[in-house]
Amino acid sequence: MDKIIYLDNAATTKTAPQVVEAMLPYFSNYYGNASSIYRLGAESKKAVAKSREVIAGSLNADSSEIYFTAGGSESDNWAIIAAAEAYETKGKHIITSRIEHHAVLHTCQYLEKKGYEITYIDVNEEGIIDLEGLKKAVRPDTILISIMFANNEIGTIQPVKEIGEIAKENGILFHTDAVQAYGHVPIDVEALHIDMLSASGHKLNGPKGIGFLYIRKGVKIRSFIHGGAQERSRRAGTENVPGIVGLGAAAERAFESMEQRSQKESKLRDYLISRLEKEIPYCRLNGDRERRLSNNVNFVFRFIEGESMLIMLDGKGICASSGSACTSGSLDPSHVLLAIGLPHEIAHGSLRLTVSEENTLEEMDYVVDSIKEIVDRLRQMSPLYEDFIKKS
Ligand SMILES: *Cc1c(COP(=O)(O)O)cnc(C)c1O
Repeated sequence: MDKIIYLDNAATTKTAPQVVEAMLPYFSNYYGNASSIYRLGAESKKAVAKSREVIAGSLNADSSEIYFTAGGSESDNWAIIAAAEAYETKGKHIITSRIEHHAVLHTCQYLEKKGYEITYIDVNEEGIIDLEGLKKAVRPDTILISIMFANNEIGTIQPVKEIGEIAKENGILFHTDAVQAYGHVPIDVEALHIDMLSASGHKLNGPKGIGFLYIRKGVKIRSFIHGGAQERSRRAGTENVPGIVGLGAAAERAFESMEQRSQKESKLRDYLISRLEKEIPYCRLNGDRERRLSNNVNFVFRFIEGESMLIMLDGKGICASSGSACTSGSLDPSHVLLAIGLPHEIAHGSLRLTVSEENTLEEMDYVVDSIKEIVDRLRQMSPLYEDFIKKS
């Protein structure tokens, strides 16, 4: 394959070489079952304990509050469904937002079918949650607030501390899907009053298929995967030792390099934003300019179909995304872009570019030049654009 420019780090990231290196011995040398008695198993157990400690430390949590799962989706499902069941005698009302990842939204819809009531809080034009709306939505039978830390499409970072305070004042559990935020921004579960937090290895240069759920001590929650006594009997299944080691190594790396990495990324991000805004007419940046993940750029280009743009970008070796990866293939526009008030026809023309520290300014120049050319070409073919130009 020719050189590619990878700008889809919100979909997944490259596993860092030092993460792979840390994992390798746990495939064929230290392959023992972490729950066994002999020394070979003890090596695995030690490695799992070390990763758990690293992760707990990164969140200001205790090791006993970290539960390994098979990724972000499982953590979200577990947190929401199991909390709903554990607290149903108190009530069956859950609050979430309109811009959650489908792992949260579809789980809430599943619970609706089971007789739970869900309130979906609105966001403003920048994609920031309406805190007044949240306060008003709280009821005596509300058992859980699940609101994401940072959005995977438009990169907005939510006022998590304020949400945590509202939850705490009202004695409601607060779960946050931090899959896009963990390893990218500092998180302190104590200061932010977070009761449960989901994260996933492959969004922070760790391996796929591994994640964790932080569950604050004292939160009543049943196990999600039934079976053996792993993860203090709360999540059965032989430990994915290489994955857990990889996640720990990725977390260690992410927190050590966070500041310089986000500086590099935001420089690339801001360069992309400023060139695109200046040089392409009829485009709009989606998401908040300040409260934004350092690697996220999301634009809509009017009179353009996102999918066509992606195919043409791919032809130029550029990996990007339109809407969210999970919905590509479907014709529905992104629920996030609709929630920030974009009309259907405009929401279809979105492009998400999520950079990494490995990208360069030269690459960004090539990307902007390519986008300009593609937007031009697609608009030439658009009857809507022709009409628009004639009228204006
Ligand atoms: C990627 C992502 C998920 C899903 O995580 P997986 O590990 O792929 O299951 C959940 N929430 C958000 C915000 C994400 O970006």
